[in-house]
Amino acid sequence: MPPLPKRKYPKSRQGKRRSHLRADAPGLVDCPQCRSPRLPHNACPVCGTYKRRQVLDIKTPELPDQRPS
Ligand SMILES: [Zn+2]
Repeated sequence: MPPLPKRKYPKSRQGKRRSHLRADAPGLVDCPQCRSPRLPHNACPVCGTYKRRQVLDIKTPELPDQRPS
């Protein structure tokens, strides 16, 4: 059996390749209606509008209901 290299690529090359592997933060734009950040091309989860049109029913949290004592 001839002498063989221990690995195909050295660890340094593997590290250089993986230096480009990472998750990017999603792009965020400000909602024109409520100014909160939202994903582009998506309805705003806060006010439920898209292109200044109401497209979602936003359930606003009610006051904490009185529990029977
Ligand atoms: Zn909004």
